[in-house]
Amino acid sequence: MSALSAMHPAVVVFLHFFIPSLERPKLIPFKPMLAYRHAFHAGNHADVLKHIVLISVLRYMTAKEGALTYVDTHAGAGGYALDGAYARKKAEHVRGIDALMAAPPTDDPLLLNYMEIVKAFNGGDTVRQYPGSPGIASMLLRPDDSMRLHEMHPTDERILRSYLGSRVNAKVTLDDGFAAPTHDLPPTPRRGVVLIDPSYELKSDYTKTLGTLREGLARFASGTFIVWYPQIQTVEATQLPKRLMATADAAPKGWLHATLTVTRAGTDGWGLAGSGVLVVNPPYTLADELRQTLPTLVSLLGQAPHAKSAVRVSEGGAAKPAASRR
Ligand code: SAM
Repeated sequence: MSALSAMHPAVVVFLHFFIPSLERPKLIPFKPMLAYRHAFHAGNHADVLKHIVLISVLRYMTAKEGALTYVDTHAGAGGYALDGAYARKKAEHVRGIDALMAAPPTDDPLLLNYMEIVKAFNGGDTVRQYPGSPGIASMLLRPDDSMRLHEMHPTDERILRSYLGSRVNAKVTLDDGFAAPTHDLPPTPRRGVVLIDPSYELKSDYTKTLGTLREGLARFASGTFIVWYPQIQTVEATQLPKRLMATADAAPKGWLHATLTVTRAGTDGWGLAGSGVLVVNPPYTLADELRQTLPTLVSLLGQAPHAKSAVRVSEGGAAKPAASRR
């Protein structure tokens, strides 16, 4: 057993960022295509939206009997130091988790759950570490539930494996997460949540995301899939939600689409204006929860007059389209 695996996960992540040589492989294969590091963006408005949805879905699924499999196709490092050099460079968390922590106390159930998880990851009320999706899932899953975590960046995979590789029923793999459905689906028993959260560094990531959802649904039609995508002004990004929804139309419980826009797109068409999440076969409770929570996020994280949110469910879903704007 590695010395790292005996430590608190947040400490592992912290040490990795501050002591670069710590238990890292001597030779890290350099892949120029993989420039994205989630540590630059951890705790930003996009993470807030994605992780609030993930927490709600996992809480709903783990409240019911039957072992659950959680598949994270693009898992990242599992946790991030917000006072580390990467996170400090763009300080995106300032307009994300930091703004929520500094806001007046809330009684919004989703926000309360989310902030409790972030605080638990830190072992107290001071937030210096931010949990990634695997860190969040590991806090919510039960001992009989399984995790299948895929990450292609060797450094982040190494950190993730140090943190969660020895967890019971967890498997961390350095591989292409777009191929995860072929390895992991359908799970046994047939209860599962799949998070598809690519970095969208490459144009091909958009078509691969769609292909991964298609393959996932073909193998596991009743599974709950959460797909995150960025709101940027490119053809691929603007077309993706419609294509995802069309793919998910045939899912037995339909889909839910939620967006959180915090600013307007940059004049050159780039810049992250916000993000969206498509949940296929969502819990029936999620639409109402998000309709309550997203307007609060608009006012706390958004820049007027461009900030807005929307929640929509497919025909036959549990609730009707709705939007909020301030
Ligand atoms: N899901 C994480 C979370 O919420 O904390 C964040 C993931 S980040 C947006 C995307 C991750 O995908 C990066 O860590 C990147 O290295 C990784 N990645 C990029 N291409 C990949 C691929 N084809 N397969 C698996 N991981 C990949």
